[in-house]
Amino acid sequence: MSKIRTISAAIAALAVGTAAARAGAQGSAAANGPAPLSFLTHVRNARFLAADDLRAQLVDCSMPPENAAAAVTTVVDAPPTKIFDQLYYLGSNSVATWAIVTSAGIIQIDSLNNTADAQRVIIGGYKKLGLDPSQMKYLVLTHGHNDHFGGARYLQDTYHPRVLMSAVDWDMVAKLPPATDQGVVPPARDMDITDGQKLTLGGTTLTFYITPGHTPGTVSMLVPVTDKGQPHLLSFWGGSAIPRNLEPAGQVGRMDAGMLAYKESFERFFKLGEDAGADGYIANHPYRDQTFIDGKSDRIARNQARKTGDSSAFIDRGTYIRYYMISVECIEAQEAWVRAGRPPIPK
Ligand SMILES: [Zn+2]
Repeated sequence: MSKIRTISAAIAALAVGTAAARAGAQGSAAANGPAPLSFLTHVRNARFLAADDLRAQLVDCSMPPENAAAAVTTVVDAPPTKIFDQLYYLGSNSVATWAIVTSAGIIQIDSLNNTADAQRVIIGGYKKLGLDPSQMKYLVLTHGHNDHFGGARYLQDTYHPRVLMSAVDWDMVAKLPPATDQGVVPPARDMDITDGQKLTLGGTTLTFYITPGHTPGTVSMLVPVTDKGQPHLLSFWGGSAIPRNLEPAGQVGRMDAGMLAYKESFERFFKLGEDAGADGYIANHPYRDQTFIDGKSDRIARNQARKTGDSSAFIDRGTYIRYYMISVECIEAQEAWVRAGRPPIPK
């Protein structure tokens, strides 16, 4: 509820922000830097971009940014689902994993919270989908937070995939306090991901980028897929949630590599996707990309309702651009709000 209240408060104040922007345009604020409420202009832009279908992304425009994960009060497993010819969703309404099935084996991306989740959702899902877990050749970890690497040790010990994460996040994970009481044992360090690295298995090549911000070594990637044989390119931002401070604040293991680093990484990765021709997006939390919410209003449900000739709910270049531009506006809003001294949101 507090999330909704905060967004509402920011949006209710838009009229004030517009007036402040107008005053700034007349030059009265120019001598003293940006108007203190200039962040509301970015919130307004984000709201326009979100229209009716992408409102979930406005969580990043609440001041301060809310913990979107905390808004999921009841965690429900998603049905394991084929999304593209070679891409499968295995996760819940809280955390996502993806399996890319190639002619030479499976690339698994992320591993959920712990061993029990990996066993039930990932391996249980493979079996329901007719996929063979022993074909898991690579396990790619987007970043060093428990909800993404928690099940990795079990998968590593049981199915022996090569496990990949960025070097700095491997270092970060090594410093985390143990969470064995939650069933979390970090994977044994294996391969380092480097910026621009390509990983090829069968006919699929993923391209990885190191995008510091959410963690010091968050990995984002471009994922080529086909939909009924038609090629598409998905942009996959590896660490949602904007850090709350401009610079890192020394909280190892938190979302704490700094808002400015996050902004630089995000703008770079958005452009890389643009240059490569991305026309869709996925995420590692389903409340971000709306892959699975409740089985009724999400992209899995929309895909299942497709009729012959309909395009995939996961592909639309305009929606992809709006999805990323909302984040650009919300990052700008957060930065302007912090630089203005975190003023209270006008009621
Ligand atoms: Zn995280």
